[in-house]
Amino acid sequence: MTPPLDVLVVGAGPTGLALAAQLRSYGTRFRVVDRSLDRVRESRALGIQPRTLEALAGFGVSEELVARGNPAMGLRLHLNRRTVSVPLFDIGATDTPYPFLLFLAQTETESVLGEHLAARGVTIERGTEVLGLERQGPHVVARLRGRDGGEETVTARYVVGCDGAHSTVRAQAGIGFEGYAYPQTYLLADLEVDGLEPGAVHSYMTGRGMLFFFPLGSPAPWRMLAMRPAGTPDSSDTKVTLPLLQGIAERYGARGLALRDPVWMTDFRLHNRGAVRYRSGPFFLAGDAAHIHSPAGAQGMNTGIQDALNLGWKLALVCRGAAPEELLDTYDAERAPVGRDVRRFTDRAFVIGTSTNPVLRFARSRLVPRLAPLARHATAPRRRVFRTVSELGIHYRRSPASTAGPRPRRGPRAGDRLPDLPGGLQAQVAAPGWHLLLTGPPHLWPDERLAPVLAGRAGLITVHRLGDRGPWPGVAQGLVRPDGHLGYVARGAGPDGLLAYVTRWLPAEPA
Ligand SMILES: Cc1cc2nc3c(=O)[nH]c(=O)nc-3n(C[C@H](O)[C@H](O)[C@H](O)COP(=O)(O)OP(=O)(O)OC[C@H]3O[C@@H](n4cnc5c(N)ncnc54)[C@H](O)[C@@H]3O)c2cc1C
Repeated sequence: MTPPLDVLVVGAGPTGLALAAQLRSYGTRFRVVDRSLDRVRESRALGIQPRTLEALAGFGVSEELVARGNPAMGLRLHLNRRTVSVPLFDIGATDTPYPFLLFLAQTETESVLGEHLAARGVTIERGTEVLGLERQGPHVVARLRGRDGGEETVTARYVVGCDGAHSTVRAQAGIGFEGYAYPQTYLLADLEVDGLEPGAVHSYMTGRGMLFFFPLGSPAPWRMLAMRPAGTPDSSDTKVTLPLLQGIAERYGARGLALRDPVWMTDFRLHNRGAVRYRSGPFFLAGDAAHIHSPAGAQGMNTGIQDALNLGWKLALVCRGAAPEELLDTYDAERAPVGRDVRRFTDRAFVIGTSTNPVLRFARSRLVPRLAPLARHATAPRRRVFRTVSELGIHYRRSPASTAGPRPRRGPRAGDRLPDLPGGLQAQVAAPGWHLLLTGPPHLWPDERLAPVLAGRAGLITVHRLGDRGPWPGVAQGLVRPDGHLGYVARGAGPDGLLAYVTRWLPAEPA
């Protein structure tokens, strides 16, 4: 009989692919299955956020993503008879190697992750559907149907549902998915548009709603996204056609454009929903299976990939006996609040952009045209928006796995992501495992002082004596988790707090 898997990954969208990459880097025994025969071909998510690029850098794929994408997109706001140019993200952030929103179609992102896995011998089992999941003792027995129609059962210790909005894993685990649908319908098309300046995002904002054109490249030059204006027939009455889209573009003030050669056209309702828990026993949810919301702010795929990279190393360490089971509870504690924040933020942005409330309509049609030209100079608000949208501001300070000792005067705190420094601090800690950063004179950190912290944790913690080139002034210590967040931070060279932290979360193997 084959021994149970450590992890069964259900779904090979961007979330499942990122999870598979992380499990592979720790040598975890896993399978990744997806019921569709091929990866998604139509364009979906268009933007990769700085934090996602940072998180994927450890796999060596971020440079390839940047090479395939466009990091220098501007935004053209078309307002009545004026057009205002607003730079996207150009605020001179220095604590990340990726201070931009990267435009890249989801198909390309999935293809880069798929190639990375293939080069490491991971097979994505396409055409394989999870039909049912049943708990049996400490394991889960999954019933799978393969591409030839044959069924098999597979036993796994943990099952992660990366299986999208209609998640089978969520249903089988009995986890609720609460929220609401927005009343409006939206139109989406990938097509060619004559008369549009290339290389920029175009937004047409009126009291009636908003229309966007995003440069796409593949499978068509442009993505059109618009709210269906009140008074136009609903999808139950009409199919989406090119003349319908052309008429809507003109109603939203996009005159002088000719829409043609659509590759696909669709309409849909948007939802804002979240899983009530991200974990139930051996079942975990990540990505769209855990949260769905409007595309405002390009957060969906990014949040999913980051869910996966919060969870993968925890599963890997628990499965190899290097971390306690409770580490897995920190997944819900850390990522469920992030999911709630993303739902709240995208909801606000979306309501402001689409509401028929007279005040908001007035703001869109009268105030935005006056204020938009000032946006270029409003550095502080743009910096705040950048921190949120880029997902660089996400922290786990309240997590049970974040412990602060005496606080250094400045610098990142326990739970924060490790910022980058000139010379590439993030690159130094990109290898799998934990990284102990020690600042101050190296003689304060003799091997004997660190010996109890490292004993029985061979290969799990890499030590970096940074001298005065660290993120904190003076003498300090910080333990970076495998996902680039700081688990423990303290001022001074006393090792007791650090020892207590690793004893709790990385119990030493007996000698
Ligand atoms: C039309 C459209 C436009 C979008 N635009 C944007 C955007 O502009 N920006 C943005 O950030 N996001 C956007 N999104 C959302 C983004 O595409 C998702 O957030 C992202 O795909 C989520 O990735 P995921 O891996 O969690 O789930 P998915 O990509 O949905 O992947 C889930 C996978 O699970 C598989 N699966 C499902 N059930 C089973 C089962 N029982 N057994 C085996 N396999 C199963 C499916 O075949 C699928 O491949 C858009 C989505 C749509 C549909």
